Amino acid sequence: MGVFDRMAAMGHEQVVFCCDPDTGLRAIIAFHDTTRGPGLGGTRMLPYPDEEAALEDALRLSRGMTYKSAAVDVDFGGAKCVVIGDPHRDKTPELMRALGRFVEGMRGRLYTGTDVGTYPEDFVHSARESRFIVGLPVEYGGSGDSSVPTAFGVYMGMRAVARHLWGAEDLAGRTVAIQGVGKVGAKLARELAADGARLVIADVDGAAVERTAAETGAQVVDAQAVFDVECDIFAPCALGGVLNDDTIPRLRCRAVAGSANNQLAEERHGLELHRRGILYAPDYIINAGGLIQVADELHPHGPNPERVRHRTQAIYDILLLIFRRSVELGVPTSEAADRLVEERIARTFRLKRIRT
Ligand code: NAD
Repeated sequence: MGVFDRMAAMGHEQVVFCCDPDTGLRAIIAFHDTTRGPGLGGTRMLPYPDEEAALEDALRLSRGMTYKSAAVDVDFGGAKCVVIGDPHRDKTPELMRALGRFVEGMRGRLYTGTDVGTYPEDFVHSARESRFIVGLPVEYGGSGDSSVPTAFGVYMGMRAVARHLWGAEDLAGRTVAIQGVGKVGAKLARELAADGARLVIADVDGAAVERTAAETGAQVVDAQAVFDVECDIFAPCALGGVLNDDTIPRLRCRAVAGSANNQLAEERHGLELHRRGILYAPDYIINAGGLIQVADELHPHGPNPERVRHRTQAIYDILLLIFRRSVELGVPTSEAADRLVEERIARTFRLKRIRT
């Protein structure tokens, strides 16, 4: 399929290719849907095998951002920037400044900041060229480490799971298996341990598991074995695509609730979980704490950490609503979430016909 056909099929508005041979910058910026506001999405830098893989990632991730923003009701649309290159070798201050100039040229249609392969410090260079950079280090006016609200949002999501499945949000005595104890997973583990949950953790990074096990008393299992752990909640906090044809039959949990993006390998895997009676907390809702924090930097009345916490806490209510709708409509939670988002976008579209 050609680029225009793919854009039309997925509902994209615009794709921008940015090239600066002097700094080696090759970036693709995809705008999915800006009905609800300017595009907001991080900049991912990876050594993509080819341009096709980079374009595919930009299209997929920008669509995800539309859904995430609408689900937690922040006034932004979906966009994503991908930079083709090895972040360890190719990322230079000059490249980040060149990116900043392209972002500035979009005059506020795009707000961007960190994602895989980029750090808040990198964007200090971009921010010399653009007013539309978010997630800068605190000393540059940014809101700091986004994994803090993300982990808190996942924790609140787990409490919603407990309320829905067991009638009380208390996680004491529940067994939670966490795949990946990096920035989000480790913070989540500490919060759950403080609540008296029993933890099983796995990570390919030996130092990360040792550190978290020492802090929380978690049992450690091999990274390959985490799917087979008998538990109440399985929390994918490492990679996308972990809920697939191979792993779903192995799961021994009542619910899946974790921070990883794009957990379902394909949409049909949401139905497969539903069929097996495993409650799935849609990833783009439960992991939206970081987005809420970044979006709050642009609040018309200035940023406010209390508001971020309050809105992240509301992930609990949004998930309970999705779980209820899933039961009422007899559809998987992933589908109930998508429907809610699509209704919200349609409502905003109707509202915006009123000229201001
Ligand atoms: P991170 O890189 O700090 O942590 C990921 C951890 O997963 C690392 O410790 C890594 O060693 C481990 N890991 C990688 N492959 C693994 C495997 N096969 N088995 C077990 N462990 C494995 O990243 P993070 O910021 O903690 O993010 C975790 C996930 O949550 C990612 O999918 C990310 O996209 C998503 N997410 C993060 C944020 C945020 O604010 N940081 C926001 C939304 C979504």
